[in-house]
Amino acid sequence: MRIILLGAPGAGKGTVAKLLTEFDGSVQISTGDILRSAVKEGTELGKKAKEYMNRGDLVPDALIMQIMEVRLQEPDCKKGFILDGFPRTIPQAEELKKLLDKLKIKMDFVANLDVPRDVILDRLTTRRTCSNSSCQEIYNIKSNPPANGGKCKKCGSPVVQRADETEEAISNRLETYNQKTAPLIGFYEKEGLLKNFLSLSSKDTVAEIKKALKG
Ligand code: AMP
Repeated sequence: MRIILLGAPGAGKGTVAKLLTEFDGSVQISTGDILRSAVKEGTELGKKAKEYMNRGDLVPDALIMQIMEVRLQEPDCKKGFILDGFPRTIPQAEELKKLLDKLKIKMDFVANLDVPRDVILDRLTTRRTCSNSSCQEIYNIKSNPPANGGKCKKCGSPVVQRADETEEAISNRLETYNQKTAPLIGFYEKEGLLKNFLSLSSKDTVAEIKKALKG
């Protein structure tokens, strides 16, 4: 499959993307995960991205496009890919369109995960993430807690609250989403690629997306 997941921070894009990869071997490409790994490893990219991320601001479009131009041409993308957290701005969407045309890749659709704001806020403040940069499994202290001692059930690393999940950073991320990312809904509607999913349970959303792929 080749789909783009759109939705506010906390809409469940990461969880839905991970479940979809189990379906047909398509890879999840999360720009957030790529950037967090780079910050942890202290690479040049990580040094440039860190301050933006901790404030809850977007990383500059040029930096993101450099990452994605390389990533989309890696061999594991041949089977299909699920874009999680990219594109995030109109310029990124326009650049992606040009890149996909150049690579002769056609997207199936753009899945917009629609989640009420109170659900989003509750999810973001209770979300925890595995600190191992090659794992980044997502937990929720209420509905899906990590193993005893706050360890990841998959790799055993400590499960932590992300630096950008303080109350201040969360409210900045939601504001940034409304200003910069929400306009992509109209962009993809015009492109004839948009499908909306009321997304309260990740499992139900995954089932709906699979159905839409078959139809
Ligand atoms: P996420 O895990 O998708 O919520 O991303 C975490 C943070 O990484 C965001 O708040 C941004 O600072 C940065 N980021 C991730 N994807 C992008 C993108 N496509 N464009 C700009 N910044 C991004």
